[in-house]
Amino acid sequence: MSTLRFKAIENLNVLDLKTFKVEKKLSEYFCENVFNIDTMRQYLSKDVFKIISTAIDSGEQINRDIADQIALAMKEWSLSKGVTHYTHWFQPLTGATAEKHDSFFSPLEDGRAIERFNGGMLIQQEPDASSFPNGGIRNTFEARGYTAWDPTSPAFVIGTTLCIPSVFISYTGETLDYKTPLLRALQSVDAAATEVMRAYFDRKTTKVYSTLGWEQEYFLLDLGLANARPDITLTGRTLVGHSPAKGQQLDDHYFGSIPSRALNFMMELEVECMKLGIPVTTRHNEVAPNQFELAPMFEEANLAVDHNSLLMDIMGRIARKHNYKVLLHEKPYAGVNGSGKHNNWSLSTDAGDNLLSPGKNPKRNLQFLTFFINTIKAVHEFPELIRSCVASASNDHRLGANEAPPAIISIFIGSQLTEVFNELEKVTEGKLSPDEKTELKLNVVGKIPEILLDNTDRNRTSPFAFTGNKFEVRAVGSSANCAEIMTVMNTIMAFQLRKFKVAVDELIEKGLKKDEAIFNVLRDYIKEVRPILFEGDGYSQEWVEEAEKRGLANLITSPEALATETTTKHINLFESSAVLSKREIYARNEIKLEKYSTNISIEAKVLADLSRNHIIPTGIRYQNELIENVKGLKEIFGEDYRDKAEQQIQLIKEISEHNFEITRLVKELLETRRKAEQITEAQEKANVFCKDVIPYLNQLRHHVDALEMLVDDEMWPLPKYREMMFIK
Ligand code: ADP
Ligand code: MG
Repeated sequence: MSTLRFKAIENLNVLDLKTFKVEKKLSEYFCENVFNIDTMRQYLSKDVFKIISTAIDSGEQINRDIADQIALAMKEWSLSKGVTHYTHWFQPLTGATAEKHDSFFSPLEDGRAIERFNGGMLIQQEPDASSFPNGGIRNTFEARGYTAWDPTSPAFVIGTTLCIPSVFISYTGETLDYKTPLLRALQSVDAAATEVMRAYFDRKTTKVYSTLGWEQEYFLLDLGLANARPDITLTGRTLVGHSPAKGQQLDDHYFGSIPSRALNFMMELEVECMKLGIPVTTRHNEVAPNQFELAPMFEEANLAVDHNSLLMDIMGRIARKHNYKVLLHEKPYAGVNGSGKHNNWSLSTDAGDNLLSPGKNPKRNLQFLTFFINTIKAVHEFPELIRSCVASASNDHRLGANEAPPAIISIFIGSQLTEVFNELEKVTEGKLSPDEKTELKLNVVGKIPEILLDNTDRNRTSPFAFTGNKFEVRAVGSSANCAEIMTVMNTIMAFQLRKFKVAVDELIEKGLKKDEAIFNVLRDYIKEVRPILFEGDGYSQEWVEEAEKRGLANLITSPEALATETTTKHINLFESSAVLSKREIYARNEIKLEKYSTNISIEAKVLADLSRNHIIPTGIRYQNELIENVKGLKEIFGEDYRDKAEQQIQLIKEISEHNFEITRLVKELLETRRKAEQITEAQEKANVFCKDVIPYLNQLRHHVDALEMLVDDEMWPLPKYREMMFIK
């Protein structure tokens, strides 16, 4: 009897399930633990409050004196909440969030002590950068780094710690985190979009910000069952496991009722989110059993990114209280729907005007078309970058794997807007006749329905879809930090808007009217972007062939995708936008490649260990039982035993064959892994892990899963798929 697995199942039956009580209205919890604008108004003098709130909007520097006063207010507020420590909370390139807790406690010379926190401590903290990945930056240059306060994202309290959202930078100025490039990209898109708005649409615009609404998918797994699976514990996914008799074919869980343990977990999570100011609004079952989704109201992109990182962090902690493990991996179970994180992206003015939302009149719709078509042009120009910024070993299981969006980046815009494109493509070159202008304004632009949101044609297979008033980027993986895709989206959009402005101004200089110039440039763009527009089934083989004919990249694996990151085109993009330097691009690329190799390497080691310590011994044990049985039959029936033992003998043979293959494959896998580990060049190493190591993982799995079907259930040591997915 395999103890861990059965103990876990037994425990499930006696689980003392915790019911979570929501004590008050959710709105009353909202921002309880956030030092936001409202709290600041309460704790700061009028003057200081004005300075900080303007600085947050404009991005201006805050001087030391003001910082001291803010720190004082933060301390006062924190102490009222029983806080003892503070930490700069940042997002290093490891993927997790990082904290180094320092105490407010400060001894005085006379033996007394006070709580101390000042502007200096608020602005800067020095974690030990040596344990964070930096892609060679620290080897070649100044090693140490520091964290610096990001005033645009409010501080918050978790437990007894005040968390101060921060950026993480090396002393030589290189960025070592996700947030810094994002903030720069947001500045870049603000500048470019504001300029376009002011020049052509609205003189009053002073700021354009990017909005993000993420949708987080995840799996819940009983903690006991999870602990009995070394692969889940060490890699976040199952490396072996036969699919259950009942899969997700029935689709009976999608929008079905949420099981009560999961519901209790969600309620507690939502209350925690509310307290931290994360405006979660929807929860539901997802396609696969025990898979769920959580989504907030959209927010300014920097804040939304912080909130998603924070959410991923607190989910794990709250899940433990309900005896769950949260699986954020993109593909915890083979053959079952994986998890993504749709990123809904748009731009909005300081007046709250969504630039990707059509409006009531032709002028407003021309504004919509401008931003809409420029987004498409930006993606058309940089599809590899979108693919590579979502690349990871775990997301490779999802992209192009017949359920999630394909690895080919294309854009879905829907039939109504396709018709608008067809009309706009016919616009005459140069000056437009008065008739044509009227026709355009009234019958093309003017007819763009104000609410495209009701549009029912929502292609689920597209990696990048327009959904009425925003673009939905669906290629992002569930475990990813949203900062990367947001950095890319806003950088390419800024770059594109700058080019657009130059092109339109050139035509205006040549004597065209503003609108004529815009129509002319947009018409040319529409002609150029045609290949990337696709309305059909993104999962089909025909699309793969069609995309190839159109010249679209199909970067199936991460190493292929990551290889495109360091092209001159991409370096020019990031450098000209002051988002990332060449050195930073290379460093980040190296980190991602190394992370990829490390992940595959760990999986290889774990599967080898599992095979040797769990699987092979189990096969042998069952085989011995069968051999005993055959021997017994022989004793009883003498030479006639053969007829009676036919099946057992066949089983013994099959188990032998699988065990033999598993032993051989483990040996070869470890040898291949060892060779790959010796490669020093990051790209080459990732290529070898991808091409040479991964096939062994798949072959091994094939034999292990076959054994699972042959061996007595009572002996199988690992929780099975049916147990992990269907026990609620
Ligand atoms: P659906 O659930 O059908 O995909 P919704 O309209 O409910 O569509 O929106 C899904 C997500 O899009 C939500 O997280 C929402 O906050 C986000 N969203 C809506 N409008 C915007 C916007 N202007 N910018 C960014 N995200 C948005
Ligand atoms: Mg969605």
